[in-house]
Amino acid sequence: MTGLDSEAWTRLSFFIGVFLAMALWEVLLPRRPPGTSKAKRWSINLAIVGINTLAVRLLFPSAAVGVAWIAGERGWGLSNNVELPFWISFLGSVVALDLVVYLQHVLFHAVPALWRLHMVHHADLDFDVTTGARFHPLEILLSMLVKIAAVVVLGPPVAAVLAFEVLLNATSMFNHGNVRIPSGLERALRLFVVTPEMHRVHHSVVPVETNSNFGFNLPWWDRLLGTYRAQPRGGHLGMTLGVRQFRDPEALTLPRLLALPFTGEIGGYAFGSAAAKGVEFETSG
Ligand SMILES: [Zn+2]
Ligand SMILES: [Zn+2]
Repeated sequence: MTGLDSEAWTRLSFFIGVFLAMALWEVLLPRRPPGTSKAKRWSINLAIVGINTLAVRLLFPSAAVGVAWIAGERGWGLSNNVELPFWISFLGSVVALDLVVYLQHVLFHAVPALWRLHMVHHADLDFDVTTGARFHPLEILLSMLVKIAAVVVLGPPVAAVLAFEVLLNATSMFNHGNVRIPSGLERALRLFVVTPEMHRVHHSVVPVETNSNFGFNLPWWDRLLGTYRAQPRGGHLGMTLGVRQFRDPEALTLPRLLALPFTGEIGGYAFGSAAAKGVEFETSG
């Protein structure tokens, strides 16, 4: 299947290109000084990227793009059953998939069992381009299932799914960047795309801040659905990143991170927990 091979190469070359650009930007214009060893964090986060890439390739060799191709052949899903100009079904599909990913992210915060998986992303004590790819393999597999289900329902053009996958991968690395952006430019950018300043709020240890700014590509869902928070209370330099119950960098090794969903304290973050029921969590400063 040469089509799928080229899909994999397209994704890989965009991943490497954006990753190197962001890594360079972080060296030249960093936003925050690192709080923990960058070498240790990078080796762990990049090992997780390797595991996730293998897991998806082994379990879902054709991934969402392959399913879009099958849906097109068999006439499954909305776009394949309605006469629409290509550009409308292309743009509509990319926006709809982005809404699905936003809703899925809210769900991973709301349901305690899903938050257990998603904690691995939030437990990073710093915030940089590698954080954007640090997800527990089970979370990656679950989100691939969600994307495949969305593709079967929407029947988007194959090109739209590929564009969305590349975009999501690129924006996730961009919006986790530990990079400085001039404030005027940042204010203009965040009208159209989730910026690092916006997503950093989501990585605060303070539960009300963690449970805001769920978007990855488009910033509009947070504004429309009431989960938007412009700035962290402690400021971007003063805020504490990570999860309250995991503060020791020595305890956040690769094996422990992979086991974290099954062994770690869930803390007061998931919507059903004490924090959401009105028990106030104070900032630790
Ligand atoms: Zn999150
Ligand atoms: Zn994040």
